[in-house]
Amino acid sequence: MSVAFHGAEFCWMNGEVVETQKALVSAMEPIHLGIFEGIKAYVENDVNGKGRLSIFRWKSHVERLRRSAAICGLKISYTDEELLEATRETIEANGFDTNVYIQPRVWPKAGTTEEVHVVIPVWKFETILGKDNPKFSKSRRFMISTWRRIASDALPAQAKTWANYGNSALALREASRLGHDGAIFLDNRGFVSEGTGACVMAVRNGKIVTPPVTASILESVTRDTLLQIMPEDRRIPVEVRDIARVELYASDEVFLCGTGWEITPIASIDDLPLGKEYPGPLTNRIAEYYTEIVSGKTEKHKDWLTSAQ
Ligand code: PMP
Repeated sequence: MSVAFHGAEFCWMNGEVVETQKALVSAMEPIHLGIFEGIKAYVENDVNGKGRLSIFRWKSHVERLRRSAAICGLKISYTDEELLEATRETIEANGFDTNVYIQPRVWPKAGTTEEVHVVIPVWKFETILGKDNPKFSKSRRFMISTWRRIASDALPAQAKTWANYGNSALALREASRLGHDGAIFLDNRGFVSEGTGACVMAVRNGKIVTPPVTASILESVTRDTLLQIMPEDRRIPVEVRDIARVELYASDEVFLCGTGWEITPIASIDDLPLGKEYPGPLTNRIAEYYTEIVSGKTEKHKDWLTSAQ
């Protein structure tokens, strides 16, 4: 009997597919400079169904993995093609035919500074996207965290290092202790930064506003996707600029965007209800279009998809 991790019996570790229960390292491994990626593969044409899977923006995620590695002085010896093949083999070994989350992890081997372990776990996830999905429209009560987002001259907020997620975990624990569904950080200057694992977008007078990369945010692939598609394909104006905390309270709509969080509407912040409708009309439109793109229904953006088979 093998032990599954998030229901996955197999993962990929340092060059081969292995049983999850055999993917072991010493408890003495240094983990503080570990980095990772969060990538999703969606079922083609039906995000709530079964079938062939496409990985969304594989290239951008691998580029970010390499940027995170460079910032931490780590060297990944595998090529992009080898990492893709590894991911495909792992999905196949697990026999997955519904939406899959892929989380490549890289960290220095004990006693070295540059040599790394590379592990690729994959597991199934349930999307909140898709027509009339009740998980999407569920009411969500968020708070402004009393923890500030890590300043990027202390930890590299723009890279995906595990160390940054200690900050996120503290904010999430605080939010849950206080009965909230999640938290939004301010940066060290007091401007809106990001969520604990997603970027923030607010609707103000028909325009989407979102903080700049200099507000201690991760350089998000989903944020980049929305910044391209909203003005070009949907004629929704966007503005990248610092956002004051009070502007969030005065927004018509606020939503989070990220690979994990997808497009997640927020109903209230610090118990101040947002806008007139929930989920708001622009949030609905964007989520619907994002769903079409990730499931390969939009011809224009098929080049963002890479077969997971
Ligand atoms: N900010 C943080 C802190 C995150 O963990 C994530 C998820 N990777 C994001 C933003 C969104 O990034 P992406 O769209 O690339 O998933």
